[in-house]
Amino acid sequence: MNLAQLLVRTARVHPQRPALFHGRRPVCDYRGLATCAASIGGFLRDHLCLTPGARIGLWMSNVPEYLEILYGAWFAGTTVVPVNAKLHPREVQFILENAGVSVLFVSDDLADGITPLLRGSCVEVVLVPGSAEYQLARSSTPMSAPLPREADDVAWLFYTSGTTGRPKGVMQTHGNLLAMTACYFMDVDTAQGGDTLAYAAPLSHASGMLNFAHVIAGAAHVVPESRGFDPVELIDLSLAHGRLSLFAAPTMVKRLVDQVAAAGADPSGFKTIVYGGGPMYIEDIRQALEVMGDRFVQIYGQGETPMTITALGREHLRDRGNARYLERIASVGVAQSLVEVRVADDEGRALPDGETGEIIVRGPTVMKGYWNNPEATAKTVRDGWLFTGDLGSFDADGFLTLKDRSKDVIISGGSNIYPREIEEVLLQHPQVDEVSVVGRRHDEWGEEVIAFVVAKNGAAIERGELDALCLQNIARFKRPKEYRFVSALPKNSYGKVLKTDLRGRLSGDA
Ligand code: AMP
Repeated sequence: MNLAQLLVRTARVHPQRPALFHGRRPVCDYRGLATCAASIGGFLRDHLCLTPGARIGLWMSNVPEYLEILYGAWFAGTTVVPVNAKLHPREVQFILENAGVSVLFVSDDLADGITPLLRGSCVEVVLVPGSAEYQLARSSTPMSAPLPREADDVAWLFYTSGTTGRPKGVMQTHGNLLAMTACYFMDVDTAQGGDTLAYAAPLSHASGMLNFAHVIAGAAHVVPESRGFDPVELIDLSLAHGRLSLFAAPTMVKRLVDQVAAAGADPSGFKTIVYGGGPMYIEDIRQALEVMGDRFVQIYGQGETPMTITALGREHLRDRGNARYLERIASVGVAQSLVEVRVADDEGRALPDGETGEIIVRGPTVMKGYWNNPEATAKTVRDGWLFTGDLGSFDADGFLTLKDRSKDVIISGGSNIYPREIEEVLLQHPQVDEVSVVGRRHDEWGEEVIAFVVAKNGAAIERGELDALCLQNIARFKRPKEYRFVSALPKNSYGKVLKTDLRGRLSGDA
């Protein structure tokens, strides 16, 4: 089934329901949104003569036109290639070329720099939402119905964030994204008319993928005027719209919670904050629950099985009386309903509970493969199982705890050291704001542990205090040999800490 059918059905059942807001301002109802999408589909198919499977690029910040372009492209049976607005132009150029994008939508803030990026690409048409040409495209004769698409047809080419190496295009099919959305309703949250979904993180990533559940439910979509994450604006939007949900990376959750606490703001306008994409530390989620209440659900996924490996739902996050509460809130929860999740050895054989191995996943959300990259696909999907590259272990109750990505594990004196464990300990220090632990080459031990520490408000922290914390909580050999105090951690545009970058800073020391 074509994903665009979701919008068509809601527009028939609830034509006058508000579909889209720009900040507080209403933009259109569901009939209006579906008509715009059908017109853009008509433009792509009839004016540009695109055939199903053609790639449509969206290099756009979060603008109100985003959804109509996504659904317009699906109407015409084409594949969308959303590109994070914050990527470096060279990365954008690589993606446009690699994906073979022929039509590119660019938001006004990025349009000036576009010409040099098109060299060597197949892009023939560039459209800027808001421009006269775009308005013309949008008033093309609407398609009467979306073109039929099979579950196996590619809907979204999702470029991995590429914290190491070149990004790869993950082929997410219509079937993958429908199964992901079914899991959202089973394992993450409800959605219904009157709810609102705010896009405070890039629509090109997890934030945009929450759209499907909310289109199905006929909920309203809110694109913040800041086009991004501004805690003050979000609090305002939650109060204006009510029942506001959003996807937030853990670093965003922390900033939102700090703002709510500092301003003494009323959190009751927030429905659900879905967090994931990187580790959420115990201290941070405890603080979040204390300040904003039971409004959080964690998801663990990756582009290759979008948003769908495990989830840690409200019921577990509020189960404070549970003997294993702390372990649970440090975990990523339990397998989502439509996928099998295994902790496995190199051959894909399941390991017993408590043992650490690679997390592998099988089910209808697992990608069709990497675009034009059969070697990488064959390495990553074996016998139907997706090898995620993440390490973790299950407990006896089925909760999965992530250790680290295999490449981030530090091997010192033959022992595996998981940076996350040390990071959790250092974050208990009241003056530590953020921390990231990596390995540095060591002639005798192989690697040694180094911690990069960001202090709260630039406070001076005694190394001895950090050492003492480690000695109280973890084995002596895991204690960092050095603490480097820095003003900020390097992060990519999704807020993930770039450990490769930190390791690079250390490589000159050896
Ligand atoms: P991406 O494909 O860019 O979304 O990155 C996916 C990776 O982010 C996963 O393989 C994990 O390493 C990490 N990740 C995603 N969700 C979580 C989570 N809830 N907790 C910790 N790490 C996560």
